[in-house]
Amino acid sequence: MKQALCDGLNRLGIELNETLVDRLIRFGEAVLEKNRVMNLTAITDPAQAAELHLLDSLTLRRVIPLAGKTLLDVGTGAGFPGVPLKIAEPSIRLTLLDSLQKRMNWLETEALPVLGVEADFLTGRAEDFAAAHREQFDVVTSRAVARLNLLSELCLPYVRVGGYFLAMKGAQAEEELHEATNAIQRLGGAWERTEVFEIAGALHSVIVIRKLSHTPQQYPRQWSRIKQKPL
Ligand code: SAM
Repeated sequence: MKQALCDGLNRLGIELNETLVDRLIRFGEAVLEKNRVMNLTAITDPAQAAELHLLDSLTLRRVIPLAGKTLLDVGTGAGFPGVPLKIAEPSIRLTLLDSLQKRMNWLETEALPVLGVEADFLTGRAEDFAAAHREQFDVVTSRAVARLNLLSELCLPYVRVGGYFLAMKGAQAEEELHEATNAIQRLGGAWERTEVFEIAGALHSVIVIRKLSHTPQQYPRQWSRIKQKPL
């Protein structure tokens, strides 16, 4: 895992000291270890986990400056991309959000305390927490949670005006962006650019959306409504 991570960091031009690299590896190993008894990831090979989980998460550091930012990771699952970002950039104020209690309990009570990684935890559905945490975050990230037209309604309400929503997508990024054009604009956002990275031989995209104006109060709607009638 270490070799794959260090090679990838060099390729991406990300410099990290030995302590942070070791902490990333320990987190990656903890995920694979827990994965034996709890469904966390389909990836079981350590080198692949280094690339597809750790490095893929860290590409966001190349997209916008994250030092000192408040960052919310929506649908974090086993902690991606939020936890590797916080390890690599400890000044981030990280909040993890997911509806799956078991995964969040593991992160909050086992995985992160052992590594000395601090975070706040919101366990529940993204659309339900938005009222209490509206427009509170500089940056909102999300990977592998929903198509962009639906995901934008879950994420953009949390972003402060002037902040960013970073959506991590695969090969269909262009198509999803096209489909989400109206939703992004309706929710107060604007597409700024898409950055593409090669990870484990495949192209991964980060869609960069800037929040330009307040999200209207009626959003987000309930999930059933979001799905039935995407913006
Ligand atoms: N982001 C992680 C990653 O890339 O490895 C996890 C991806 S996993 C496929 C999707 C996660 O999103 C699940 O843990 C699920 O519980 C969470 N999720 C889906 N919809 C959600 C919602 N509306 N609110 C909160 N969590 C949600």
